[in-house]
Amino acid sequence: MSEKIKYIDASQFEKEVLHGGNVIVDFYSTECPPCEALAAKFEPLSEIFGDDITFIKIFRQENRALAESLGVTSSPTVLFYHNGREIGTRLSGSIKRSELLDNIKLLLPQERFSQLLSAIQPITTYTDILVIGAGPAGLTAGIYAAQAKLKTILVDTQLPGGQVQTTHMVSNYPGFAKPVEGFMLMHYMSEQAKEAGCQFRVAVDVTEINLIKKYIIVDGIETIHAKKIIIASGCSYRELNVPGEYEYKGKGISYCATCDAKYYQDKHVVVIGGGNSAIEESLFIAKFTRHITIVHQFDKLQANREAQEKAFASDKISFMFSHEPRAFIKNDDGSMTVEVENLKTGNRSYITCDGVFIFAGMKPNMVNEDLQNHNGYIITDEFMHTSLPDVFAAGDIRYKPYRQITTAVSDGTIAAITAVRELEEATVAV
Ligand SMILES: Cc1cc2nc3c(=O)[nH]c(=O)nc-3n(C[C@H](O)[C@H](O)[C@H](O)COP(=O)(O)OP(=O)(O)OC[C@H]3O[C@@H](n4cnc5c(N)ncnc54)[C@H](O)[C@@H]3O)c2cc1C
Repeated sequence: MSEKIKYIDASQFEKEVLHGGNVIVDFYSTECPPCEALAAKFEPLSEIFGDDITFIKIFRQENRALAESLGVTSSPTVLFYHNGREIGTRLSGSIKRSELLDNIKLLLPQERFSQLLSAIQPITTYTDILVIGAGPAGLTAGIYAAQAKLKTILVDTQLPGGQVQTTHMVSNYPGFAKPVEGFMLMHYMSEQAKEAGCQFRVAVDVTEINLIKKYIIVDGIETIHAKKIIIASGCSYRELNVPGEYEYKGKGISYCATCDAKYYQDKHVVVIGGGNSAIEESLFIAKFTRHITIVHQFDKLQANREAQEKAFASDKISFMFSHEPRAFIKNDDGSMTVEVENLKTGNRSYITCDGVFIFAGMKPNMVNEDLQNHNGYIITDEFMHTSLPDVFAAGDIRYKPYRQITTAVSDGTIAAITAVRELEEATVAV
């Protein structure tokens, strides 16, 4: 624990924070994975900047009234104070080192900030197995590799859990008679990986990946060299890049029916898309909503026949074929307006609704041209070998027909067992 960090309670806030000059305050909680991830960055930064800035931690659960009076409602939340005034951007949730540095920069004169920053020594770490991505595939690979007593590091740009983290309920992962919350399932997996001995670097910026020389650089300072690399970076929603989409993401625009359909009980929503996921997810959303308008760019649906038949038979679903969204607008009363263009006539019209779901497909995370791939999805053999020696791929990032938690977990298992065996064989051969 850094000596440069002060632990205070509400009674000391005025003296230590409001009259403390340059101060960074971290409201933390116990049993809070994002708080642990933040601590791994907060402590080293306090060693570097601690003579110029006071680093303070306040236990939120025991100082609730103070937290609430400051509008702090979740842990961790980090606030930056200069002479009693809050400045910069409040940070919460999965906080990156680069975001902390952006705010620290505001507290110090430019020259002093650069001087202290330049004193940071780069770190070099060596590991047997490096796993990029800590979703179901990466965590499983980590569990197998660490249980085989190999040094294993898992790196993720977010907190561990992957896409399942945002999945409301999972009912098809074996071992749970009743549906399990996606968040809890991933909590169990990451605790198991920690227990096995995996080291984590999470909520980090991955600033360089060199698969040929087998190293990555994390947060611009730590170079991790590995004997074997397993890429398990998954995929994410494809965005439309239509005006308003970015601003209202999570505030009226959703990409996840399982997560958000329940908020639209007896409401009208617009679904953008006409492929399998758009139609299957619309059938799920229809269990909650009063009405769904499906806006699709083609003049017929691309979904499988069964899903199409169900959608056409539903009296809750109507279709606007040959239309594309041009803008998403949030109205003063909280409703949304979708501006759409008829691709055949060029005419524009407006649909007012309560929310919008976008299902425009998925895209692979971390496209790497050094690897043989199909539209960015990495091609592997049955042992999860990629086209580069000592580099494996597992989970949704692979080019494969089915993307599920079970298939990701299976890929992670195969990649790790193969990597472990190859390392053991190499040791015996020496
Ligand atoms: C809304 C929704 C509901 C779903 N429901 C189910 C279900 O009920 N049952 C089921 O079986 N499947 C379900 N799935 C599919 C399932 O979530 C995926 O198949 C599974 O999560 C894939 O696991 P993964 O580890 O390959 O990838 P992911 O879960 O995508 O994890 C990849 C991880 O890699 C990290 N990452 C990305 N890029 C980098 C980088 N450059 N450096 C470091 N880290 C990086 C990401 O932050 C992420 O944590 C659902 C998917 C969605 C989107």
